[in-house]
Formats: sequence, structure tokens, C-alpha cells
Amino acid sequence: MSTQELESQAMPKSLSDLGIETSKKVFWNLQPAELVEHAIKNQEGVLTDTGALMADTGAFTGRSPKDRFIVKDELTRDSIWWGDINIPIEEQKFDQIYSKMLDFIKDKDLYVRDAYAGADQKYRLNIRVINTLAWHNMFCYNMFLRPSKDELENFSNEFTIICAPDFKSDPSEDGTRQENFAIINLSKKILLIGGTAYAGEMKKGIFSVLNFILPHKHSVLSMHCSANVGKNGDSAIFFGLSGTGKTTLSADPNRGLIGDDEHGWNEESIFNFEGGCYAKVIDLTREKEPEIWDAIRFGAIVENTRFLPNTRTVDYTNKEVTENTRTSYPIEHIFNAITPSKAGIPKNIFFLTADAFGVIPPISKLNKSQAMYHFISGYTAKVAGTEVGVVEPKTTFSACFGAAFLPLHPTKYAALFGEKMEKHQVNVWLINTGWTGGPYGVGKRMKLAYTRAMITAALNGELDHVSYRQHSVFGVSIPESCPNVPVDVLSPRATWSDREAYDKKARELGTEFIKNFEKYSDYATEDILAGAPKF
Ligand code: ATP
Ligand code: MN
Repeated sequence: MSTQELESQAMPKSLSDLGIETSKKVFWNLQPAELVEHAIKNQEGVLTDTGALMADTGAFTGRSPKDRFIVKDELTRDSIWWGDINIPIEEQKFDQIYSKMLDFIKDKDLYVRDAYAGADQKYRLNIRVINTLAWHNMFCYNMFLRPSKDELENFSNEFTIICAPDFKSDPSEDGTRQENFAIINLSKKILLIGGTAYAGEMKKGIFSVLNFILPHKHSVLSMHCSANVGKNGDSAIFFGLSGTGKTTLSADPNRGLIGDDEHGWNEESIFNFEGGCYAKVIDLTREKEPEIWDAIRFGAIVENTRFLPNTRTVDYTNKEVTENTRTSYPIEHIFNAITPSKAGIPKNIFFLTADAFGVIPPISKLNKSQAMYHFISGYTAKVAGTEVGVVEPKTTFSACFGAAFLPLHPTKYAALFGEKMEKHQVNVWLINTGWTGGPYGVGKRMKLAYTRAMITAALNGELDHVSYRQHSVFGVSIPESCPNVPVDVLSPRATWSDREAYDKKARELGTEFIKNFEKYSDYATEDILAGAPKF
């Protein structure tokens, strides 16, 4: 079929309620095959030898948190947790940028997509996305939930995304920091994105919106976590900051995948917000991550990757563009994903941390106080990566393992989390997917096969009857044995050649936890503080 014929299929729907006009074409809800054709014709991307579409995101290869704004108005003035994460912008500036964007897209072809966020009908949000790039529209097809044909015909929009990477704001008059921005207007129900082509801004923008609506309006806990479910219906969730293993560890051949990044927890179930996964692909191998590897076929998009010379084979080791190379695909690309993406109350909760100091045990069990303390702390570490010379890893604390996406004060989410933990008998585990045998530079990253074995053991109840001992600083309970994991891997101290150096590092990390927690002193009860490190 020629592109001309595709164009004639454009449905006679209207964008006039949004004030959008264009002299060019509007393509409504194109299928992936059509979007791939458009993307290639528009020179937005190329095909890989597995049939995936490959595109570059331009100057931005990650989100730009410093350029993420929320409109400060009647609705948000007293409800938002304002600061470095939720940066206020005036209503009038939003209106100004909105009208500039409408003007900008007037002579552009537009790709429009209607989609849902939230697999639970009661809480789902109807989204209309307006893109200037075909591959972005396909990203939204992959990442949001896909309405049926009938549902599309009667679709009524609740929240609009307008994403025009080539539109740049003028910081001198628009109230932005730079030319790029993502602005959420919760009253007008619009998310504006310009100056960046990093597609993740769209999905994490809607995540932030749901993180406002669900706890604020419905007392549903929204969570930055992945989730899967066993054959007996026992579900598990995995909280963790970027790179700690949510996507990797939730893909488990023995458990149904619910979702890899964003979920809600209501009275009786957990549910995915999304319809797809967004996996890191740096150094991806089929051997270590077969489910993700096999998902990268027609329908998937790979971002910022490069080919092996003279081939169309993706070289996953190539870091030329960024370390944050990604793939997005509809969740059905994972063979054991379940639909609808819902399950009962979790039996096990995992907090994933990539501790670059080699201090946190690879697996430990938390009591209720420790669970609250670690949930509010949201610890992981960042490594400097490719920098030359001695590199010092840095601690990162991000409340609820996702502060960057939380419009409300973290204690709102923590309170809901605490209530749910109290009410249901949940096991909470802390997993270090980071370093062992010493800090970054000395030790090495925990073997993925061991982390998987530890999680499997916890899920199967194989750690219910082993003996535990307490960590000297963090007080968490470390199992003394675990199937398919060498005993000496379980005790981080035993993996260090210099035990005193370990003790010193553990106290240093404990001190950082305590310092970080000072900002919650108003909220911290004795019960929660009982979960703090002690030394
Ligand atoms: P984001 O929020 O950015 O999507 P994420 O939590 O989903 O991040 P993953 O995409 O799962 O993070 O990334 C974890 C990365 O770390 C993968 O590239 C994985 O191969 C690698 N890795 C190495 N060792 C381990 C381990 N022991 N456990 C988990 N992941 C590991
Ligand atoms: Mn992920």
C-alpha cells in the first residue's frame, strides 16, 4: 500500500476542541506498520535486522528533570510538593507556550493517538497524544494501553500530550530554564513537551500525573515499581530507582509479567499503568536476558543504538551515543505477560538498590520499621561511569524510590504504603543488585544469575525456614543460606578482603542514611526510626 493510500484512511476526527489546526495531514491512530513506514519515509529512523525500528533522540538521551514544570494555580498551589523536583511555572507562561506551540504545529503533519493509562478501568485515564514525529507516536502505541477498535470509535479524551521536539521555548520570555521543557498543567489536563525528543518524557510525564490523581483523589497508592505474578496468583512488586533492575528482574520465565515500571495498588489489587516496557539495552545479551532480547522484533523501537560495521545488526556494547540506550515494545512481546495487567495484593515486596559501595547485603529481610525507613529513604548509588581516573560513586536518596515523579509530599505515599503493609501480611526484602567484594573500582557487580536465584528463593518460600543474622549497622536480617547461591556471596563483609575497611564503609553509608533522613524529622515516628541504621 502506498503512503498516499494510508493518508486517505485518516479518520475524520477533530482537534478543534484543543485549538489545534494544521494545513497539513492529521494521522489518527495509525498501526505500527504504518508508523514504521512514515518514520522511515520522514527519515526519523531505520530498520534493524530483527525488524525493530531504530531512532535517535537527539541532544537529549535521557529525561531532563530540571526542565520539568508544574503549573502553579488554584488546584496545585497548596497540594504540590514544590521544590527542585516539582518546579512551579505560572499559568500565563503556560498559556503563552501553548499558543506558540499551536502556531508552530500549524504547518506540520501530526500523528494523533488515543490511549489509556491504567489497566484498572475504574482508575484509568484517557489520553490523547499529538506528535510531530511518527516514531514518537509509535512509542506511545507501545507504552500506553491500546484501546480496542470499538473503544477508539467512542473515545473521549481526558488528558492531552502535545510533544513537538523541534519547538523551542524562549527562556527570556516563557519562564523556562532552557529551550527544552516538559510542563504539566493539572487543571487544564495538558502536558506540553518541546525542545527534546527523548520519548521517555511522555511516559514519565503521565506517570507524574497519575501520581497526583490516584493518591490525592482516590487513596490509591501509585508506585515506581515493576510487578509479576506466580502460577498460584502470588504477586510481587519490585521498587527501585533507574538502573537497579526493575525491568530486568520482573522478566521471569516462571512468572507472569504484569508490568516493568509503574503500578497502582488499590483496595484489592495491583495494576499496571502502562501497556509496554522500556528496557535498557546497554550490553544486552540473549544469554543473560532472553525475554528482553526476543522482544526486540517488529513493533519494538530501539533508541540511540548503533550497528555493527556494514550490518543492520545492533551492537549493544556501543556507548557512542549514550549508556542509556533503550528499547520500547508492547508488553505482549514478553511471552508470559498477562492481560489485563492486574493481580492480587502482593505477597512479597522487593526494594532494589544498586549499592556501589558494596555494603548492602545482596538479600536481606526487613521488619516493618525497616521497610518504612528504607521506603522513605529510597537509596541507591550512582557510578560516574566512563570517566577516566579514580571514580567515586555517589549515594542517591530518592523518596519512595521515585521522588522525581512524585507531585505530592513523599510522606503521602509513605503513609499509604504503611497502611497497606499493616493490613496485609507482606514480606519486604532489600536486594542489592550493585557491588560485592568491595566498592566500585575494587569489587564487581553482583552476578545477575545470583540475584535471580535469591529472588526466586524468596518468592518460593525457600528462605522462610533458614537461619538469619542481623547486619551490624543496618540491622536487616541476612539469610545464612540460599539455594543456588554460594554462601560467601550472602555476607557482604565476607566478600571484602579487608573486613575493617568494610565496617568503616558500612558506618559511612549508615551516616549518609541518617543525614538524609533529617529532612523527614517532622514525620518520623519512633516506630519508623527504629528501622534506621545504628552504630
Ligand atoms: P529504569 O527505571 O530506568 O527503567 P530499571 O530499574 O528498570 O531502570 P533495568 O532496566 O532493569 O533498570 O536495568 C538494570 C541493568 O543492570 C540491566 O542492564 C542489567 O543487565 C544490569 N544488571 C547487572 N547486574 C544485575 C543484577 N545483579 N541485577 C539486576 N540487574 C543487573
Ligand atoms: Mn525499567
